[in-house]
Amino acid sequence: MEVYSFVFSPIGVNTYVLADKSGVCAVLDCGCLGNEESDRLALFFEKKNLKPVLLLNTHCHPDHLFGNGMMLERFGLRSIFHEEEEHNRKNAARYAEIFGVTMDDPPEADRFIEGGDTINLGDTVLKALFVPGHTAGSLAFYNENDGVVFTGDALFEGAIGRTDLHGGNYDQLIMSIRNELFSLPPETIICPGHGGESTIGIEIESNPYFNQI
Ligand SMILES: [Zn+2]
Repeated sequence: MEVYSFVFSPIGVNTYVLADKSGVCAVLDCGCLGNEESDRLALFFEKKNLKPVLLLNTHCHPDHLFGNGMMLERFGLRSIFHEEEEHNRKNAARYAEIFGVTMDDPPEADRFIEGGDTINLGDTVLKALFVPGHTAGSLAFYNENDGVVFTGDALFEGAIGRTDLHGGNYDQLIMSIRNELFSLPPETIICPGHGGESTIGIEIESNPYFNQI
């Protein structure tokens, strides 16, 4: 699997394109806002000769799904996420207004998945890990073969997601990260929803939320 990343919208969300060697790809947290960003992503698929066949969401905060309407219109894809994110999806346009962004209501899910489910993309296998706490239905997606985990807004480089929004719970988030993410091999690369990459080992050692005396 090849991983490509884009930073989209004024909020600066990381959108990832996961490309299997067979030429199919998944888009994870499609944050393109407006035609210019949507065109940039579409052009990238053309250049790389990639066919988008999957749309995934770690969770349904508006910045992570600004581009879901476009993905349905242009590529016929609806997103796959946890059912507990329905509240956030349904209220995405209202929440986006708080950030000063106007958006249409995002499309309904293709289907819901849970922690432990696996998703196949060509020969690439992604395992969904249930990591609630930032939101009630947050998922991370782990590719064991390549040693990469997409953590959404659960775990960042040197930080964790905010827990003051609907469905947020600090203790639950800490537990999710400890149980589901810190149990992965330390060399696993973290691709978060915002900011730069890290590894599980670095975060276990130096993330300030887990190293308080
Ligand atoms: Zn979020």
